[in-house]
Amino acid sequence: MRLLIANDDGIHSPGLFALADVARQFGDVRIVAPDVEQSSMGHAITHGRPLAVKRTHIGDFDAWRVNGTPADCVALGLSAWEKVDVVLSGVNLGPNLGNSMWHSGTLAAAKQAALLGCRGIALSTPADDAEPDFVALRPWIVKALELLLPRTEMCLLNVNFPPQPKDIAWTRQSVRHYDGRVVPVKDPRGRPLQWITVMPVEATEEGTDRWAVNRGSVSITPLRLDLTDDAALAKVAG
Ligand code: MN
Repeated sequence: MRLLIANDDGIHSPGLFALADVARQFGDVRIVAPDVEQSSMGHAITHGRPLAVKRTHIGDFDAWRVNGTPADCVALGLSAWEKVDVVLSGVNLGPNLGNSMWHSGTLAAAKQAALLGCRGIALSTPADDAEPDFVALRPWIVKALELLLPRTEMCLLNVNFPPQPKDIAWTRQSVRHYDGRVVPVKDPRGRPLQWITVMPVEATEEGTDRWAVNRGSVSITPLRLDLTDDAALAKVAG
């Protein structure tokens, strides 16, 4: 099996190495990742300029760093390496739950794979000032991949690990609670600025990704690329 590893935190993120180091037990691994952090850049692609791709080493992995977005990295990786079975994106330092999926570069890398006809799996875990404990998470990353890699009918998946998982839950995306707030601040000269923040929300619906992670479960959400509102379409079509 060929596994292409990407992320949005940049090629030197400890989450990327942790994921690649687990992935190697499932097959051949290559890394293509942004040369600097690209978090919250969503599914942007670079089409107005060429991209620089530089060979590097992450541990003993073949790796390429790109001055582009997470989606760029996956497009380049799938173009350069034939017959990739799955793109794994992450492990992101920070959760990608509910509405975050719209902004996530981590998920965008997996979506780019799906758009190009390859499977894509995004993996994320909360991170505060301290780095996540990837040694403790490792067996859960293994379990998630053992569960998901054989399920080839699932083209796009979003996985979130709580800090100390107790089990694994299949979930749906929580969409009703937006977690972005705009906070007025001032610059050092007293001029007003607006800061877009991500604040935790308390209320969660049972069965959703956020609910699962809050109760200590690894959340796995199968996704699709089609955003069509089938109910609305059926209404007007009828
Ligand atoms: Mn990130």
